[in-house]
Amino acid sequence: MSALRDEVKYLKGVGEARSRLFGKLGVVTVSDLLRYFPRDYEDRTVFKTITELADGESACIRGVAADAPRLTRTSKGREVATVRVYDQTGMMDVRFFNSTYVKKAITAGGTYLFFGKAFRAGGSVLLTNPIFERADSEGVFTGKIVPVYRMTAGLNRRTVISAVELALQRCGDTLPDALPRAVREEYRLAVARFAYENIHFPKDFEALRIARRRFIFEELFVLAVVSRLRRAARGQTAGRVITTDGAAPRGFEEFYASLPFEPTSAQRRAVDEAARDLASGGVMARMLQGDVGSGKTLVAAALAWLAAKNGCQTAFMAPTELLAEQHFRTFEAMLAPLGVRVGLLTGSLGVKAKREAREALLKGDTEVIIGTHALLSEGVEFRELALVITDEQHRFGVNQRAGLSKKGESPHVLVMSATPIPRTLALILFGDLDVSELNELPPGRKSVLTYSAGEKLRARVYNFARRLVSEGRQVYFVCPAVEDAENEGAAEAASGSELKRAREYAKTLQGEIFPELTVGLVHGSMKPREKDAAMAAFIDGGTNILVATTVIEVGVDVPNAALIVVENADRFGLSQLHQLRGRVGRGEHQSYCVLMRGADGEKSRERLDTLRATNDGFEIAEADLRQRGPGDFFGSRQHGIPVSRFAEQSAEASTVWDARRAAEDVLNADPRLERRENLPLREAVDAVLRASAGTFN
Ligand code: ADP
Ligand code: MG
Repeated sequence: MSALRDEVKYLKGVGEARSRLFGKLGVVTVSDLLRYFPRDYEDRTVFKTITELADGESACIRGVAADAPRLTRTSKGREVATVRVYDQTGMMDVRFFNSTYVKKAITAGGTYLFFGKAFRAGGSVLLTNPIFERADSEGVFTGKIVPVYRMTAGLNRRTVISAVELALQRCGDTLPDALPRAVREEYRLAVARFAYENIHFPKDFEALRIARRRFIFEELFVLAVVSRLRRAARGQTAGRVITTDGAAPRGFEEFYASLPFEPTSAQRRAVDEAARDLASGGVMARMLQGDVGSGKTLVAAALAWLAAKNGCQTAFMAPTELLAEQHFRTFEAMLAPLGVRVGLLTGSLGVKAKREAREALLKGDTEVIIGTHALLSEGVEFRELALVITDEQHRFGVNQRAGLSKKGESPHVLVMSATPIPRTLALILFGDLDVSELNELPPGRKSVLTYSAGEKLRARVYNFARRLVSEGRQVYFVCPAVEDAENEGAAEAASGSELKRAREYAKTLQGEIFPELTVGLVHGSMKPREKDAAMAAFIDGGTNILVATTVIEVGVDVPNAALIVVENADRFGLSQLHQLRGRVGRGEHQSYCVLMRGADGEKSRERLDTLRATNDGFEIAEADLRQRGPGDFFGSRQHGIPVSRFAEQSAEASTVWDARRAAEDVLNADPRLERRENLPLREAVDAVLRASAGTFN
């Protein structure tokens, strides 16, 4: 057991400097390392002879170096090493760029294993920069299914692989198993050792499937146990009673009557459900789910209004300044006419404005405060905070949400999410929350026409953008997502390169493609003031085309924007693309979403077709779940729950139900997890609870 808690820095080949890089990936202990699952696998099990190799095919080739590497230079001065390699069927050229070490590593007459992608033209075959090793070595990088890990600059795959190998050797026999034996047997799940070994270094694809199934089950099972325990704990807490009695004799009708439109029946239902919680004497812990544009803000405003009528304060936290300001304007427009005092508190306010905002809160002059995480800073105190609402909750770290709750005495909590979570998963992830759903869009929305396009259509896409602008519309271009820097040495600091790309991309669009238009740029590393200025220029219509990184993913509302073009769309999850698409189609204009496919055309086309087929966020979330697995929903970044991310894993709904049932069985028999066989489970549960302490209380 204890070896699992050791820090990775003591593993052979890691050391102080590399352990810091591991730290960046969230890997501190040996146990973290073992749970740092590959995000993908490379199939290097297929061996081909040189004549068999097809153009574009990736395979292993066993061959003999005919001569020593010849060194030449390209016209740009790059060093190239070329070796002729033969096997019993034929000859090929193997070429390495900037790899002086190849000169020593490959000697004439030696036999090597190569893995790479073949380029065939006429009779000649070429491998460029293949992986290679001596045929008499152990075959670490060829002839196998090789794991692909998410990487960070400065760390290479070889280091991670050998660290994981060492960790498995050391701890293989003492791996704790959060799954009690009875559960494992009932649901036919692999034992821990097999699962860990094969998730990292699969013997074959069947073994990988078995290992994955076990981990998916384990994650879901632990979360289900956590949910049930949390819910049991919450049942004990008393909450501030907020009612319409006396305070609002006409119920919410007074509020609804002041709106410029009729609330949808889904909105009314969600408001009523939450109002019942507020009046119950217990503490509300409710999640409001609703697709992009379904009108969640109105529900939040209705509840804030009622709280104010009861003499209580509401804090509403948004993930970005941009959104906080937008919400502030919306809330002010809705609530000020009803006599509710709304305030704004963000990091970029001046010192004086901040102080005034804080004083107004403490005195109770501000009844509804809209803000960013600046609301969490020390010195922000409330007179009577009774309701906490977080918008786009998946954007917040768990600790941030918990921090806000601490500013009041067991305040009611409403979390709002536009990332629809498949119902099955919601049951587990938010099993301790009550859920209201806005399953209806306000009337009169035109659905966004969605297309996916390959490079060939690029010029047409630009022309289409130009045409829409000439009709007075505006356009978003969303910039490529960051590539994982994972190949040996090919690493660049991720955020830096994203920034660079956004800038260059905007420059190209402005300089070469749309010289006659105004192109703006907004990205995450801008100072808030610059960002606001860029956004304001777009909102005013001064900017025709806005290049953006995914900072615009959530919430931004510019009704005149009628086209969004997403570059490298295959790098995004479907739900995320759906969010991006939600930035258009907010006004009366027919709107369009064009998803530019990256390199691997066909596979991504199929995936993107889901988005063309439906505008329903829930359906899309389900498809995401099937195609990419629950990683996107469980990612610890999103939920603060330390859960792994798999690539392309899939969780069947039946697995979710099984995991839930297993959790119920275990807790019914041992409600506090005190039995010996449940101790590893309790440790796993405690780890989750620690990471998300006090989230919803
Ligand atoms: P989201 O759920 O994505 O946060 P918003 O609350 O931003 O959605 O609402 C989207 C838009 O729909 C806003 O412009 C809002 O004013 C409008 N809206 C909300 N409810 C209604 C309704 N019942 N009828 C018409 N428009 C509505
Ligand atoms: Mg919103």
